[in-house]
Amino acid sequence: MFSDPLGGALQYLKGVGPRRAADLQHAGLSTIEDLLYRFPTRYEDRGHFQTIASLRPGVAASVAGEVLSCGVRPTRRPRFRIFEMLVRDATGSLRAIWFNQPFLNDVFHRHQRVILFGKLELTPHGLQMQNPQYELLRDDEDDGNVPTLRQPQGRPEPGRGTGEVIEDTVHTGRTVPIYEKTGQLTAKMQRALVHQALQQLPPELPDPLPPEVRRRQRLIDRRQALVEVHFPEADASVDELNAFRSPAHRRLIFEEFFLFQLGIVLRRRRADAERKSRPVVVTDAIREAVRKVLPFRLTGDQKTVIRDIVTDMQRPQPMNRLLQGDVGSGKTIVALMAALVAMENGLQVAFMAPTEILAEQHFFNIRRLLEQSRFRIALLTGATPARKRREMIAELAAGSLHMVIGTHALVQEGVTFRELGLAVIDEQHRFGVLQRATLRAKGLHPDVLVMTATPIPRTLALTTYGDLDVSVIREMPPGRQPIATTARPESRRDEIYAFMRRQLDEGRQAYIIYPLVEESAKVDLKAATEMADHLSQDIFPEYRVALLHGRMKEDAKDRVMGAFVRGEFHILVSTTVVEVGVDVANATVMLVEHAERFGLSQLHQLRGRVGRSRYKSYCILLYQSPLSDQGRERLKALTDTTDGFEIAERDLQLRGPGDFFGTRQSGMPTLRVGDLLRDHQLMEDARREAVAALDDPSQAAALTSLVSSSWEKRFGLVGIG
Ligand code: ADP
Ligand code: MG
Repeated sequence: MFSDPLGGALQYLKGVGPRRAADLQHAGLSTIEDLLYRFPTRYEDRGHFQTIASLRPGVAASVAGEVLSCGVRPTRRPRFRIFEMLVRDATGSLRAIWFNQPFLNDVFHRHQRVILFGKLELTPHGLQMQNPQYELLRDDEDDGNVPTLRQPQGRPEPGRGTGEVIEDTVHTGRTVPIYEKTGQLTAKMQRALVHQALQQLPPELPDPLPPEVRRRQRLIDRRQALVEVHFPEADASVDELNAFRSPAHRRLIFEEFFLFQLGIVLRRRRADAERKSRPVVVTDAIREAVRKVLPFRLTGDQKTVIRDIVTDMQRPQPMNRLLQGDVGSGKTIVALMAALVAMENGLQVAFMAPTEILAEQHFFNIRRLLEQSRFRIALLTGATPARKRREMIAELAAGSLHMVIGTHALVQEGVTFRELGLAVIDEQHRFGVLQRATLRAKGLHPDVLVMTATPIPRTLALTTYGDLDVSVIREMPPGRQPIATTARPESRRDEIYAFMRRQLDEGRQAYIIYPLVEESAKVDLKAATEMADHLSQDIFPEYRVALLHGRMKEDAKDRVMGAFVRGEFHILVSTTVVEVGVDVANATVMLVEHAERFGLSQLHQLRGRVGRSRYKSYCILLYQSPLSDQGRERLKALTDTTDGFEIAERDLQLRGPGDFFGTRQSGMPTLRVGDLLRDHQLMEDARREAVAALDDPSQAAALTSLVSSSWEKRFGLVGIG
């Protein structure tokens, strides 16, 4: 329906040859639309001219003047050239210099009228601008809307009407857009291209926002918004622009959210139209059988979420539920209860964990709990030998295997089920969304329970996971003592070792975690290895120290982890592989080396490895001074609170939602202009409007086709089509 006037290739813009087009392509820009929807990251007020006499060092300013003299000046250093220019206005003159840009010789000439924008510095030659932005004013200009020598305080006239690009200057003399440099594409190049593209914009642009929505939300027209977001009117507030609060921003953010919500709402509606192979029934006998497996009394929150889940399972539509609960809140037992209900109904269960170690841990725990039951469960990971694997796959297809626990490889290759009733996906933010899509692609519509220890702030969950139902466990199992968290500088290492020794002497175990960043993996690995040796030889010779890292073979990792779980090692020196889910109740010390290098949520996850029993636990964050402001904030947040939700909120604020959720598979949309935190009110409005628009039969079809043609690509998400 929306034939696309913005679909033209950038290569047809003036000055874009094959080379430049390739650069643009490289920066992800191939059409006019790509270009116009790559928004400025900020704006600079270069529109208020100052007289040269009024300039002060240290501040940036715009001046308009006439070139008195200019030329390339050689320096003592070979090949190092300075282009120097003297500019004059009615009040005085100013020097401007550029380094190594001799081509400027062909740009400027005497008596040329120019605008310069740059920061002023005081030099022995007087005030000077270094590498300023410049713009040439046409000599044949009648003094219409261009500042001249006679009116140096002037500023360009406001636009002649909305949606018109009329101002003559592009890079100076106005409020200019600043773009992020990508590859070869500089901010200035992009600005010039955008300016050109806007001038060629057809007078009418189709608008994905229905007119009523625009009226109700008081949003400006799409064309006007595109023009003004790049080249704001002269009277637009720069502060408002920089806060992304201008009318143009509001309109474009709303557009983005509206399109996003259309997809989310459709995804939800489609899921509700699906039918699973059969809903479960819950009889007293089943209730009794499930209860018998429970090793402890459930907390109130656990009971509530199990009720939510079982209610979903009894409905004909497949469950799509996200279970959030901080580390250690006891999500596994909840998933196991759900699995039992499914198996009691003769349905199979797939339980997926993000790593082999976690899959194994789930497997061993669950196998222990199900020892007395008639259900057969198996562990299937990349490490499973081929022959065994073939057997399992055959048994799953035949239905004689009731539950399979494994990594995501589970749903990827060759695995089919006789009747899959429930898929449990642990640690959603790693791959949950993708997994659901894979299951669906196989024609399976099981109940899906996604579990995450990343507490997603409520506003975000409601809007961005709007196609999922959300249950939350906030209550910790009884008898837990809060984890004492301290941040300590490197200089206090000895004290920390003394403290650790007391814990070990009491029979407890300890983790020591090393950061492992890809770029310096080798160095970090070496540090961790050396530390393990040093600790076992020099510091704790009477205790057994193990080393665990990501480069180890799977079975070696498993042996180490297994031995630590059994208490055969006292100290586990590890890179971040123990990050999620690992459960060793006897471990009471978590020492994080180079804590300043970890993200806040990551540190919180690590801390969650201890404090899993009645023993008092400790998390010690060892940092290298000096700390950056952000680093200090992070450590402070951690010592301030153990509430995962509060940590998540702070992490979001420190990092922004994009980083917070990280990967494409996170289920978080790739946004161009909106911000899930800053603009969450707009997101809620957009959601309401999207629901209303899809309920309107005169619009639903067109909007649905718009979503199916572009939604996944646009938002970098999976699972609509
Ligand atoms: P997570 O939510 O991080 O996956 P787990 O399911 O691993 O948490 O549970 C953490 C620990 O708490 C486990 O050792 C588990 O057996 C224990 N646990 C869970 N629920 C309860 C409860 N209601 N009472 C006592 N212990 C519990
Ligand atoms: Mg867990």
